[in-house]
Amino acid sequence: MKLVRYGEPGRERPGLWLTDRGAPEILDVRGTAFDIADYDAHFFTHWGIERLRGLLLEKNQKRFPAAGVRLGPPIATPTNLICVGKNYADHATEFDSKIPAEPVLFAKSPSALIGAEDPIHIPPTFSEVDAEAELAIVIGAPSRNLSEANALEHIAGYTLINDVTERRAQREAGQWFRGKSFDTFAPIGPYLVTPDEIPNPQNLHIRSRVNGTLLQDGNTRNMLFPLARILAYSSSTLTLQPGDIIATGTPSGVGFARTPPVLLRAGDTIEIEIESIGSLKNPVR
Ligand code: MG
Repeated sequence: MKLVRYGEPGRERPGLWLTDRGAPEILDVRGTAFDIADYDAHFFTHWGIERLRGLLLEKNQKRFPAAGVRLGPPIATPTNLICVGKNYADHATEFDSKIPAEPVLFAKSPSALIGAEDPIHIPPTFSEVDAEAELAIVIGAPSRNLSEANALEHIAGYTLINDVTERRAQREAGQWFRGKSFDTFAPIGPYLVTPDEIPNPQNLHIRSRVNGTLLQDGNTRNMLFPLARILAYSSSTLTLQPGDIIATGTPSGVGFARTPPVLLRAGDTIEIEIESIGSLKNPVR
């Protein structure tokens, strides 16, 4: 299944993205099961995904054409938006040549989350805005001290996140939170794809393009720390909450490391994609 949240920013409703009748449609989940308020912690811990499977079996489904409908982040604002830095050897090398021995965790503000085609805003007085295409995992149950052997069972689904970064703020702040957390710096979506549709999350092509020109072209098989290790490591630090998002790092090819650098400018369009999940295409303002 592909879960979406649609409608105006801040007032999104939960839906399901359906293509079984040809042109994409959205199933209005709240219109059919009005106790499903949103894709939030309550939803994930109260058999929400199983209930959605039930809705698909019902005869009277409230559907409408998806064309022209704004998609917001596919999950409600989470408690934690955790990122893994330097999780691909080629990107660690282009960043500062240091290969980490353990996963590098940092925080990004969940208030930066925006939808699949929403504009990214360059903050006034900054000029080194860069994009990072990343696979994101969403937690399905409270998770503490997971073992690598069964960690993937705690994933509610997969999505795509652009870990937009202002490089000067990242460099000058001494830590990364500021450079990663400006408003609009976390496009995510377009769907939350359930794990049954992603049989091997460690073999997915991941790409980014600026104005159609390919920048990043990687594969999740090249992660230094695979998803199971990331989940075990992060859940040994804090209890992961249902709906929490973990951005799992970006492959090489990011703009600031190129010669000459390719940094985002007003008027650009940044597109990132992961096979089996979809793409995000955000204008830059
Ligand atoms: Mg990143």
